[in-house]
Amino acid sequence: MVISAPSGGGKTTIREKLLKRDKRFRFSVTCTTRPMRPGEVDGKDYYFVTLKEFRRLRSGGKLLEWASVHGNMYGTPVKSVMTLLKKGLIPVMTIDVKGARSVKKIFPETVTVFLLPPGLKTLVGRLRKRREPAANIRVRLETAKKEIKEASFFDYLVINDRLSEAVGDIRDIADIECMKISRKQAEIQRFGLELLKFRL
Ligand code: ADP
Ligand code: 5GP
Repeated sequence: MVISAPSGGGKTTIREKLLKRDKRFRFSVTCTTRPMRPGEVDGKDYYFVTLKEFRRLRSGGKLLEWASVHGNMYGTPVKSVMTLLKKGLIPVMTIDVKGARSVKKIFPETVTVFLLPPGLKTLVGRLRKRREPAANIRVRLETAKKEIKEASFFDYLVINDRLSEAVGDIRDIADIECMKISRKQAEIQRFGLELLKFRL
């Protein structure tokens, strides 16, 4: 599952809550060249890498997708996603809109969710609450103008008004998606084989 939103839309907050509440989901850690923020942990929030390391990963085919966001490089390691999928878990990627498109292109079964706060005033208020300087807020709102134009690409829209409701919506999306016939081929085949072998 890919979750995208304009900066301040609540990706990180929702992801943390979702992972605590529902053990089917696991964060697929991505890598970045941006400096670590206070409180962030290497390997938990991101793999913090140098630009040289990032380029090596990219040229070595180790990244599923990558993008430059606000002057820094970000990329999804293939390994992070595949390890979780093999364990039957749902990898959660909180990446930008361009990254969401790239992942969907490679894995069309990816479920893409776009998050929006209930209004622009709320978004600006939340960015301020995060103590973003005015210049940063301006840049993020400029980026948001481009991102909102891409919203219709996504499979689902979740409004992040009350946090627990938004998290509930994402869990509902997973429930519905898991029931899709296209994701149930193994069960159908198993039943079919039993039917073939069955004698009354
Ligand atoms: P993003 O990761 O998309 O940039 P964050 O998760 O950092 O966004 O959220 C931006 C700010 O908004 C944070 O200060 C966070 O605590 C706050 N926030 C997020 N979701 C909610 C919500 N549902 N209600 C109130 N505050 C929220
Ligand atoms: P931040 O630096 O605030 O953590 O993230 C900035 C932006 O980069 C956010 O929109 C975030 O979702 C996005 N991002 C984080 N990791 C990746 C990644 O691996 N790929 C892409 N395409 N975007 C990412």
